[in-house]
Amino acid sequence: MRVLLVEDEEMIGREIQEYLNGESLICDWSSNYGDASEKIFVNEYDFILLDLGLPDGDGLGLIKEIKENSPNSLIIILTARSNVEDRVHGLELGADDYLAKPFSFLELKARMQAILRRKSGWVKNIINIGKFSIDIEARKVYYLKNSIELTHKEFTVLHFLLIHCNKVINRYQIAEHLWGDHLEEEYQSNFIDVHIKNIRKKLGAFEPINWLETVRGVGYKINTG
Ligand code: CA
Repeated sequence: MRVLLVEDEEMIGREIQEYLNGESLICDWSSNYGDASEKIFVNEYDFILLDLGLPDGDGLGLIKEIKENSPNSLIIILTARSNVEDRVHGLELGADDYLAKPFSFLELKARMQAILRRKSGWVKNIINIGKFSIDIEARKVYYLKNSIELTHKEFTVLHFLLIHCNKVINRYQIAEHLWGDHLEEEYQSNFIDVHIKNIRKKLGAFEPINWLETVRGVGYKINTG
């Protein structure tokens, strides 16, 4: 997943970024309003973690920009415990949740997972499609009791398609999700096809996976029925 962290406090920002990178997420970090606004305009993020008190503007204004430019991004407001009004206003503007500072990384992670589940209609961190189960937390895939070994990138692609299940996702969106700002250097559209082919091959060894659909000329889609 690709995350934008908007936080002007150097130490908090660095710590959160390091934590998220360690959790296999791509995390871009903006320390001011202007830079965040630019990144939101250019990139597509799965999550935006938003501190409201920024040196050059009110983070609440960014929520409006996110809603206009990147309506699929999920937003968590990071704010001091005392700012009840800001929190309420942020939720009214369309933020998905808020976390009061200071918070633990585990809490941040749990909140992000809870929002994803809510948005995708999943009940838990294990998603079942037919006899396959995909454990989002452990990053494992099973067919009944058989464990299926996917590479890091293959799992990331599968997870990304699952987050957006029943929607067509194009190759560029998948690539952006995999490589973030390194996209320009690494992108070759057939890379994505190779990952999909490998996923199909590994899972398909157990049972044909008709739920992973190729949408000709566009991209891919997972149908959960
Ligand atoms: Ca701040």
